[in-house]
Amino acid sequence: MNAPHSNFSPIKKPEARVLSTLDADGSRNWLKPKLSKGKLLTRRRIVAYLLIALFTLLPFVKVGGKPFVLLDITARQFTIFGFTFLPTDTILLAMVIVAWLLGIFLFTALFGRVWCGWACPQTVYMEFLFRPVERFFDGTAGRGGHRKKTPAWRVAAKYVTYFLLCIYLANTFLAYFIGVETLGRWVTQSPIEHPVPFAVMAFVTFAMMVDFCFFREQMCLIACPYGRFQSVLLDQDSMIVAYDKKRGEPRGKIKKQANASLPVMGDCVDCGNCVTTCPTGIDIREGLQMECINCTQCIDACNAVMSKTGRTANLIRYSSQSRDAGRTSSMLRARTLIYPLLLLGLTAAFVAVFLSSKTFDAVLLRETGNPFVLTESGDIRNLLKLKITNRTDRTMNFNIHCLSPESAVVDVREDSLSLKPRGVRTLHLSVIAPRDEFNLGRSQVRLELANQMEESRIISLKLIGPYNE
Ligand code: SF4
Ligand code: SF4
Repeated sequence: MNAPHSNFSPIKKPEARVLSTLDADGSRNWLKPKLSKGKLLTRRRIVAYLLIALFTLLPFVKVGGKPFVLLDITARQFTIFGFTFLPTDTILLAMVIVAWLLGIFLFTALFGRVWCGWACPQTVYMEFLFRPVERFFDGTAGRGGHRKKTPAWRVAAKYVTYFLLCIYLANTFLAYFIGVETLGRWVTQSPIEHPVPFAVMAFVTFAMMVDFCFFREQMCLIACPYGRFQSVLLDQDSMIVAYDKKRGEPRGKIKKQANASLPVMGDCVDCGNCVTTCPTGIDIREGLQMECINCTQCIDACNAVMSKTGRTANLIRYSSQSRDAGRTSSMLRARTLIYPLLLLGLTAAFVAVFLSSKTFDAVLLRETGNPFVLTESGDIRNLLKLKITNRTDRTMNFNIHCLSPESAVVDVREDSLSLKPRGVRTLHLSVIAPRDEFNLGRSQVRLELANQMEESRIISLKLIGPYNE
């Protein structure tokens, strides 16, 4: 007897393709895109190798003796373009981040995902470092093409090469956070002398191995937030890689096209080269898709076919949704005007805040615990702390005195009042004032903090004392 629901399967079969990197049963469809040579690949190669050189050399670049870029997380100092942001520069740093985001929005509105295809480190390293290594050791079979069995020694050699590349990348990456001098010292010393940085480097190497050997295009398809935001960042006039449907359809194989009894066909010879070359495994003829990283490999692949079959180039080309719908595309749109205006406003605000920033900052706060104590002589002592930030690259020596009340004195409980370049220090001090300076338990104190360059700040605070009527 047949079991009830004998056709029942716990896994529902998809009615259509869900993801280009998934087979119908949900297992990973490993992509091995075919390399398509062409003008755009040559240009992308030049850009990619220049970017790799730039990424490698940037930590060595100095501006006025300071690194061009150094993201020193432990010291909480970010140096960008030679300018150092301190923890107290939150507003400036926030402005830089917002300007950077606005720049991305503007760039995407104008040029679509050019960043993804031409400059994103994931694409640059995957397509121009790791993929060539893979093709060298495994051969050049494309998706759907023949797959030869790779000998074990070649597989081992491939992974050793990947590992060496990942070590180089991890060290370059670390140089942005610790500087090349520290990195140079660490790589020549035993890891036992600096286990934490070594563990960080080992972890970054491992993460890169996982990314470039296993995760690969999944990073663009499911993990990258920039890819997820494309639907809101792009508009009808943004630049995209698109298939010219009007010209290409109805598609058909060369043989079918040569059959005079069939109706006239489009220029697409349905060779599938645009699909087998795609690093994210999609078919651009199905229209604009979130998986398209604008790498232009399908353009090169199709142009080669067009040239071989005597057809006009650019059946797949850079276009826009407006252009494909027969409308004229314009660079001037609401978003391409609003974003630059916002950027301009932000730049002006940044310059204003930057120019008004002082050589040092000082914040006076009350110590925790008792608000005041009575001295033996009957005066009132308030315990305070003074947080000073040196924003310059030279050591500062300070002196501090009380401006008002005139009868009050400052008692600094520190050996020295010097502060190293870009340093932040909290000084513990107390202000002693006679009891009759207090009115209703309060007395305004004004302190002057000056450095050896005679730059000064006046800081004030309400002292707390007994409630005199
Ligand atoms: S569709 Fe074309 S441009 Fe888009 S990712 Fe695939 S090959 Fe690159
Ligand atoms: S490469 Fe060009 S001709 Fe070949 S299938 Fe793709 S669009 Fe059609």
